[in-house]
Amino acid sequence: MNLLRRHPIALGLILLVMLSALTQVPPLVDVASGAPPPDADLVRPVLYTLFAPIENVLDALTFLSRDRALTCVGVWTSALAVYGLLRRGTPRRRLVTAVLGPAAFLLLCVSAVLLPRPVPALVATDSTLTVIDYHAHTARSHDGRRGWTLMDLADWHADQGFGASYVTDHRVPFAGGVEDPIRLLPGVELSVYDQHVVVLGDVAPIDPGPFGRDTRAMLGLFGELHRQGAIGLASLPEYWVHHWDDLDAFVAAGVDGFEIVNCSPRGLAFPTPARTRVLRLAGARDLLVVGASDNHGWGKVTCVWNLSSPSAHGFGANRVLARPIAVAQGDWQAWTAAYTQPWLMFTSLSWSERSSWITWILVILIYRAVPRRGGDPTGIGILARSLSLKILKLKRLPGAPSAP
Ligand SMILES: [Zn+2]
Repeated sequence: MNLLRRHPIALGLILLVMLSALTQVPPLVDVASGAPPPDADLVRPVLYTLFAPIENVLDALTFLSRDRALTCVGVWTSALAVYGLLRRGTPRRRLVTAVLGPAAFLLLCVSAVLLPRPVPALVATDSTLTVIDYHAHTARSHDGRRGWTLMDLADWHADQGFGASYVTDHRVPFAGGVEDPIRLLPGVELSVYDQHVVVLGDVAPIDPGPFGRDTRAMLGLFGELHRQGAIGLASLPEYWVHHWDDLDAFVAAGVDGFEIVNCSPRGLAFPTPARTRVLRLAGARDLLVVGASDNHGWGKVTCVWNLSSPSAHGFGANRVLARPIAVAQGDWQAWTAAYTQPWLMFTSLSWSERSSWITWILVILIYRAVPRRGGDPTGIGILARSLSLKILKLKRLPGAPSAP
């Protein structure tokens, strides 16, 4: 009881790690069925599992939709500032804590975007399947990270288990030709009349002007792509509301498939009922459905992979595998993000990650529980001092003259 009063945060965290195991979800799901894929695994490097608490938090911060990210940052920085102000201590010390808490949280957010770290990789057991990404950007896109080269993009994908990726910069076609460390395939992304179209194949630069008049003109783009020997996918997650009533017209105009998961902050907000409707339509019309990292050079982890089968066509040619925490973004109100995001993170932990969390919490708890003498600062010095005191006691054997 005394321990609970002195260390409520540590014990609360242990309780959360244990309780969330009761509603554990798999680390990876096939988006069409909602079940874990039988032929693919998410493999975490040893260092990732060792530092699971920090790695899991950085992943959870990466997989926030835009509105949820804004509320999460707002609520947590405010809460940490208030916590700092309400602590015991001098006004100066309280003020310092009230500033350092929010600053540490913001540093975590920046780390999620920039910090190099070990990342999980998808490994497929069937070697005939290609782990592929259909939509990613380099610095040649106006909103791509400066200096983010084709090689950076290829390395980013290779680290996460991809064997191939289309390069789809905005309006700037990529012709392909890169084979190492992974295959980079030709493509481009076109934005016409509020619709993003991911083009797969080697095409000449296309002037979007004539296709931007209205919906009918926009739909003519698919015919033009077919004339050039390419295929066109409608990227729905980011701006799905714009053409939500036109999906049947897309099919009639020859769309080759739909993007149903997109890891960009806007794309993550695509709700499950909308995704289900597209999956049903694509299944009935035998069209491709894909997931996209939509990487622009920021963030270290993807929320989605595809398993592409060379022997199949249409709907059966590709399976979308995603992290459940990312797929759930569109199903939770933005204002709940400060507590639903940690909960989503905890429920999708593997047992090895849970063990890592509990070990770290216990190590910190034991360290903090070492009795301190008045005036001792917190730090490793307490352990050293208690050790040297013991050595002194050992030296003073019974019968030895006591110190003057
Ligand atoms: Zn894009």
